[in-house]
Formats: sequence, C-alpha cells, structure tokens
Amino acid sequence: MDSHTSQDQIIRSITQHKAYFESGNTLPLQQRINALNLLEKNLIANRDALIDALHQDLGKPELEAHVAEYHFLLEEIRLVTRKLAKWVKPGRARTPLHFHPSRASIQRDPFGVTLIIAPWNYPIQLSIAPLISAIAAGNTVILKPSELAPPSEQLLTKLIADTFDPAHATVITGDASTSRELLAQPFDFIFFTGSTEVGRIVAQQAAAHLTPCILELGGKCPVVVDEHTDIEQTARRILIGKFFNGGQTCFAPDFVAVHENAHAELVAAMTELLRTTPWHQEMAHIINRRHYDRIQSLITGTEVCFESDDADALRIAPRLLPDAQWSDPALNEEIFGPVLPIVKFSNRNELITRLRKFTSPLALYLFSSDKSFTRELTHAIRSGSVCINDTMKQSGNLNLPFGGVGASGHGRYRGRFGVESFTYQRPVVRRPFLKDLFEIIPPYAEKLPMIRR
Ligand code: NAD
Repeated sequence: MDSHTSQDQIIRSITQHKAYFESGNTLPLQQRINALNLLEKNLIANRDALIDALHQDLGKPELEAHVAEYHFLLEEIRLVTRKLAKWVKPGRARTPLHFHPSRASIQRDPFGVTLIIAPWNYPIQLSIAPLISAIAAGNTVILKPSELAPPSEQLLTKLIADTFDPAHATVITGDASTSRELLAQPFDFIFFTGSTEVGRIVAQQAAAHLTPCILELGGKCPVVVDEHTDIEQTARRILIGKFFNGGQTCFAPDFVAVHENAHAELVAAMTELLRTTPWHQEMAHIINRRHYDRIQSLITGTEVCFESDDADALRIAPRLLPDAQWSDPALNEEIFGPVLPIVKFSNRNELITRLRKFTSPLALYLFSSDKSFTRELTHAIRSGSVCINDTMKQSGNLNLPFGGVGASGHGRYRGRFGVESFTYQRPVVRRPFLKDLFEIIPPYAEKLPMIRR
C-alpha cells in the first residue's frame, strides 16, 4: 500500500466514522453493551488463535498470554458491561437560588471519532483495552496496532471486522508512516501507547488539531529495597515481575536500588532463584534483532547468568548485573528486557537525590517493613503508581486507574477510569417557561437594589 492510497483509505474511513457517530448509532446504552458482549463472544471463539498469534510474535508462554491478554480483556469487558449504566448516568447538580426554577445535570458525552495507536509488547491487550473504554463511552474507534507483531495485527483485524460495523470500529494496519498519516487527521480524541519519544510526536500532532489525547508511555521503573525487608520474598517478587514477558513490560521493574547492608543477601537470594527456576525455557523472546542488540549493549560488568543467549531465536537469558553503577549504560535507558541491574545506596537522602535524576516512571516499587521509609519515598519520588512489597500488582487491578505522569505519560484508563477518559463532562441546564424571578435586562438601575441586598 503506497502512502497515497493509505491516505485516501484513512480519509475515507474517518468520513464513514464521522457519519456513523453523527447518526447517533454509537449512543444507545444497550447497543454499546451488545457490541461489547459480541466482542467477548468473539474473543472466546478466537482464544486459541490469540494464544497462537502471541506465541508467533513473542514466543509468549500460554499461561502469560492467557492471563495478561486474553483473560484480562474478558475481565475488563465483564466489569464494564456490568457497571456501564451506573458510570454514564447523568449526575444531578444543585442550582443557585437566582437561577430557579431550573434543573442542572452533568452528562458524560463521547468525544466522537477516536484513534488508538498500540505497541507490540502486549499487542492485543493494549489494542483492545482502550477500545473497550472507547466503545463503552459511545465513540467510534480507528485502531492502529503495532506493525512489529504481524500475527497479532492480523488477528486484531479479523476480530474487529467480525465484531463491529467498519464505521464503528476498524483496524488500519501499517508502520510509522501510516501512523503519521493518521495523526495528520483531525480526530476527536487520541489514545497512544508506546515510547516516550513517539509520544512527543503524537502530542505535537494532536496539538495541531487541538485534539485531546492520552499518552501511555515508558520509562525506568525503580525498585527500592530497604535493609528492613523479607529478603526471600523480595527477591522472588522482583524477579517474577522482571521476567514476565521477557522484561518487555512498560511497568516492569527496570533496576534495583538496594541498601548496601542488604546487597549481598539480596544478590545471593536472587542468584539462587535464577539457578533453580526454569525462567529461560518459559519466557517470551525479544521482539526483534534491533531490540536484541540494544539490550546486549546494556550488559556490561559482572553478571549472574546460568543460560546462554541465542541471537537466532532472539532469546536473552535472564540475568542480574549485581555490581552495577549508577552511571552504567543499563541505568541510562529503559531496558525492556530480562536484564536486572542492581545498584547500592547508603542512605535515604542519597537515594532520593539519585532517583530524582530520572524522569518520572510509570511505577515505583518499594520493599520495606518500615512504613516511614515507604511513606517518605512515595512522597519524594513522583511516579504513575506505587506498589509496596511487590511488583506489578497495581496494574492488574481493574478497579485502579492506570497511567503515567510526566515523561511516562498522562491520562488514566481501565474500567471506570477508561470510560471517564473517553468522555467529557457536559453540563446541561433546563428551565421551564415560568416567569423568571430575576432577569439581567435593562434598565439596570432598578435591579441594583436587588443584588445589593
Ligand atoms: P513505539 O513508540 O515505537 O511504537 C508505538 C506505536 O507508534 C506503533 O504502533 C508504531 O507504529 C507507532 N509509531 C512508531 N514510530 C512512530 C512515529 N515516528 N510517528 C508516529 N507513530 C509512530 O513503541 P513500541 O516500541 O511499540 O513499544 C515499546 C514502548 O512502549 C516502551 O517504551 C514501553 O515502555 C512503552 N509502553 C508503554 C505502555 C504504557 O501503558 N504506558 C505499555 C506498553 C508499552
């Protein structure tokens, strides 16, 4: 598809979506719920194809694909369809006496034609989860999945075509140039998940049309381990979070900063876990050669690793960098792979100064049984979310909002928060044709005594 055809197709699709939205077809609540129920049914029918696509794209183990993509989406659809009527019900508002008689309410209205751009690391979940919010909120959706996960891209194209009228939700495939073509159009709302670098481009393009947008971006999520902690549990919970999806999770523990008194014990516990757990055999592979080479370039200094890498299979063995320094390459960019650098700190002030040098991450992980420590760190270090004494648990809870702050993005979604993000609050005032108690109409002189009272 050359870029001209692509642009024609995009414009045609947006025109159809605009007409569909303006026809009011996306609005009836029961129709939104029916569409999501059909999506659920089609996801269930395509469960094996979905697991297979994720296996082809990333070598995802079935358990991970089931939990983090398939089942996650079913849970979200079930929550949203159950609660939608309550979430979008207009809220009543009080009316000041001088506007009486009058009724005031706040409607939640959809934006209109929305664009969702997705990444490759959870290619199905991160495409469909925002789509669920958008459809539930009464919008139409043009979805641009990642070109780096082609079997998932194909599955999404079929799934959406089988579920929705193409003017209601449709998939447009392509690479960064298609994405740029899309971003050049005047959408009513944009939801982007991807790198901070591309997020900046999306924000600029959205600004050109004054289009509101949500940006779900990346960053380096620190794990802080205090000296007062259960080392065995800490080591276990960090590695489980780190190696899920081969470390290719936007809110994965990126690096560990451990108190110098606990360093040796933590490294010993992690080394033992790494030696005895078959992670390497049960882990997603790296998405492509470019990322494989990039991650390899971050592996410097001493390492703890019990398996070998395989460039042809894009497999990087899980490893620790136990003596990492704050200035190492692995501490300077988002790792997005199964490599865990461990740096030391000696006191809170030093730790806070060092962590504040990073841009704000999606998540901050704190391990300590000392509540004053976790309270101080939570207050001192800005992040999209916080999880204390575990990793990643804040993101699997659909009752919590998900999103970043600063360089890790802005805006929230999941469950109720997603529906709220894809709508805007619209105040509606209705007055009966009764005689007004007070009108601001000349001559003003005779009104002044009334307002001066
Ligand atoms: P990416 O930014 O390279 O690509 C994301 C999407 O943007 C793709 O669909 C791609 O086609 C498109 N794109 C790429 N270059 C573009 C350009 N110049 N102009 C317009 N569109 C462009 O990200 P990725 O490599 O697919 O994903 C990995 C990144 O995403 C990591 O940084 C990760 O932390 C982040 N991420 C964030 C979240 C979150 O929820 N916050 C979730 C997953 C991934």
